[in-house]
Amino acid sequence: MNELNRRKQDVCGTRARYMNAGCRCDLCRAAWAAHQIEANKSRRERLADTTAVEHGKATTYANWSCRCEPCKAAHSVVMRQQAQSRKDRLAADPSIVEPGRAATYQGWGCRCEPCKAAASAYEAGRYERKKARRETS
Ligand SMILES: [Zn+2]
Ligand SMILES: [Zn+2]
Ligand SMILES: [Zn+2]
Repeated sequence: MNELNRRKQDVCGTRARYMNAGCRCDLCRAAWAAHQIEANKSRRERLADTTAVEHGKATTYANWSCRCEPCKAAHSVVMRQQAQSRKDRLAADPSIVEPGRAATYQGWGCRCEPCKAAASAYEAGRYERKKARRETS
C-alpha cells in the first residue's frame, strides 16, 4: 500500500477509510455513498452512450443492468438455453440429481413421480405454514 492510501485511510470521511480500515462512521459512510452515486451515474452515462456497450447481449443485461428490449431478449434466450441444457443433462443421466426433492422438481424440471410428490408435499407444507402463521398472529 502506498503512502497516500495509508494517509487517506487514517482520516474519516474518505472512501479509503471505509473500504480499507472498515470504518462505518457517518463521515465515512457518506463518502462511500457519494462515491457509489458517482459510480452509478458514470455507469449510466456510459450506458446511455450506446456505442460504449453492445446491446442485445446477455452480458450487457447482467453487467450493465440494461433492460432494453434487445438485451432482455438475449437474456431470456440464455435463460431458456440453460433450462434446456439442464433438462438435456437430466435426460441423459438422471442420476445427476437427487430424486424425490422439490428442488429437483423446480430447478431441474424433473417430473418423475418422487419429485412430483416431493414438490406437492412442499407446496402443501408451505400452505400449512402460512395458515399456521395466520392463525397464531
Ligand atoms: Zn470514519
Ligand atoms: Zn441494452
Ligand atoms: Zn425426479
